[in-house]
Amino acid sequence: MGIVYQRILLKLSGEALMGDLGYGIDPAVVQEIAEEIADVVATGVQVAVVVGGGNIFRGLKAAAGGMDRATGDYIGMIATVMNAMTLQDALERKSVPTRVQTAIAMQEVAEPYIRRRAIRHLEKGRVVIFGAGSGNPFFTTDTTAALRAAEIDANVIFKATKVDGIYDSDPVLNPNARRFQTLTYSHVLMHDLRVMDSTAIALCKENNIPIMVFDLSVRGNIHRAVMGEPVGTVVGGSCEVS
Ligand code: UDP
Repeated sequence: MGIVYQRILLKLSGEALMGDLGYGIDPAVVQEIAEEIADVVATGVQVAVVVGGGNIFRGLKAAAGGMDRATGDYIGMIATVMNAMTLQDALERKSVPTRVQTAIAMQEVAEPYIRRRAIRHLEKGRVVIFGAGSGNPFFTTDTTAALRAAEIDANVIFKATKVDGIYDSDPVLNPNARRFQTLTYSHVLMHDLRVMDSTAIALCKENNIPIMVFDLSVRGNIHRAVMGEPVGTVVGGSCEVS
């Protein structure tokens, strides 16, 4: 089996960097993720990453506690930059060249987001980590992943989760739950399956970007997914029927 995707966008939630800690960043977990990414980069695949910030701050949660929503969202976006820089450090310790680009300017610590420059970095084999979400409150980093994937012309979004795909019911509660190999965007939207938020799904649908949902905790899964192995559920792409 050969490489199926030349340019991928990996979406890591903030929680993915948290491990079992409950809050913040587990350096050991970040190291493991960096190793996985380094393995894929070594095959020549171009890797862009969007990191979330839910391990540190969520605007919606802060708003529920009375904070102004937009302010909370800006704090959430800034939180993602901490994650982005942590991942950058872990990757560079593995000799993987990286650039962090942020949607909110922080030029002392990262480049501003410039689409053409991001593409150039990817072509040169650098991992580009997109921080600060989309730069807009009321959005999520899932939507950012869809947006950036469209902008950089990524072949696929790898949505790393804690389960090995999308099921017809909760596999923790139902031992007979069935895993889908492929799903259409419309099915995900209609049944409100919590793969990514609906804005992100709609954006992927419009731009025909497949989403591979897979379990990040299984060592080697990113590499397997790049090689086209069915490690999770694929939403959209060639399985889409309209
Ligand atoms: N956020 C935002 N606009 C964006 C992306 C993120 O306002 O384009 C804020 C929002 O408050 C969100 C927080 O940043 O709660 C962290 O991002 P997200 O919840 O998507 O992180 P994840 O769930 O992936 O860890």
